Amino acid sequence: SATSTTHPDIEPSRLTVTATTSPRQLPPSSKLLFGRTFSDHMLRIPWAESTGWGAPAIEPFSTLNLSPAAVVFHYAQALFEGMKAYRRPDGAATMFRPDMNMKRMNDSAERLALPTFNGDALIECMRQLISLERDWIPKEPGHSLYIRPTMIGTNGTLGVQPPTEALLFVICSPVGPYYPQGFKPVALYGTTDEEYIRTAPGGTGAFKVAANYAPGVVAQKAATKVGYVQNLWLHGPEHWLTEVGTMNLFVVFKGEDGVTELVTPPLDGMILPGVTRDSILALARRHASGGKQLQGLPSLLKVSERPVNMGEIIAASQAGRLVELFGAGTAAVVSPVDKIGYRGSDIIIPTGEDGMGPVSRPLWKELVGIQTGEIASEWNFVV
Ligand code: PMP
Repeated sequence: SATSTTHPDIEPSRLTVTATTSPRQLPPSSKLLFGRTFSDHMLRIPWAESTGWGAPAIEPFSTLNLSPAAVVFHYAQALFEGMKAYRRPDGAATMFRPDMNMKRMNDSAERLALPTFNGDALIECMRQLISLERDWIPKEPGHSLYIRPTMIGTNGTLGVQPPTEALLFVICSPVGPYYPQGFKPVALYGTTDEEYIRTAPGGTGAFKVAANYAPGVVAQKAATKVGYVQNLWLHGPEHWLTEVGTMNLFVVFKGEDGVTELVTPPLDGMILPGVTRDSILALARRHASGGKQLQGLPSLLKVSERPVNMGEIIAASQAGRLVELFGAGTAAVVSPVDKIGYRGSDIIIPTGEDGMGPVSRPLWKELVGIQTGEIASEWNFVV
């Protein structure tokens, strides 16, 4: 932890639990809309520059009471994480690679001059929260409890400077599958920095800070208006592909040598280091290097973190070497793409049966198997 040794870090032994006196029922699966329903309890951990991290508290889900001068409302000192708890077939609740989210959350905190903390300590507090809320994890296949750790600057003092007070809180939302009716490929609109920009070198694109998201809404609305679903964020005059909406991006090419190449842009400071991205790369590399073989995945597979631009996409499309393109993130896991609107015309991306391509399908299958606990893995963290 980077917190000063003179001030306490997050201390799970100080956790207090106040149970709700009016427990609610988990709504039926058909009524679950993403991010609309929240579980009965939340976790709160206050921080102050003068005293460090305070005692963690699990309390009934309730509103926050903040000064209208709180810095978060004026200067966007806010960051968050997105992760899921799953219910294993044996009934145990699990989290997927929570250490990755804790690392990213601390990186985001550092970027906003918000306090850092011991990630294992927050995992332990979240473990107790999820344990208490285990009945809020829907049992149906493809369902999970979405976990949203958040940190905001709370001191009510105008002026742009490091926050002197902060609040870390965690709320939970039961969610159904992103694609309840099978995979539905999405159409992307190639957004260049002549229109809107998501991030730039030296910016905050590599961090999960709230201020990255608000400016994307009008860009997404503009894409919808011309018949597309999400933005394909293109950087610089070369139109480098960066991300898809709020997902990382993967492209699959068939090389002239017959080798299939799975490509994702490198973590160059503009790409959010996605947990799904990292996991897909690891599974693909394990397969490519002769480790566990994923059924259906080409055995001649090259896995690359390298820049890819629209020129390469168009050339591959024209040569019939574009195999598939997909987004990857916690919410949808894998999201196939069937076209890109670019410079006034559409580039058609192949999609397989059920909307999924030949490379994304086996990777998705393995990843979901691990997340749900059907496939044993050290990435599974039992709550
Ligand atoms: N990029 C952005 C901008 C995102 O908001 C997310 C969602 N956290 C991702 C990529 C995917 O990250 P992850 O796989 O960790 O969900």
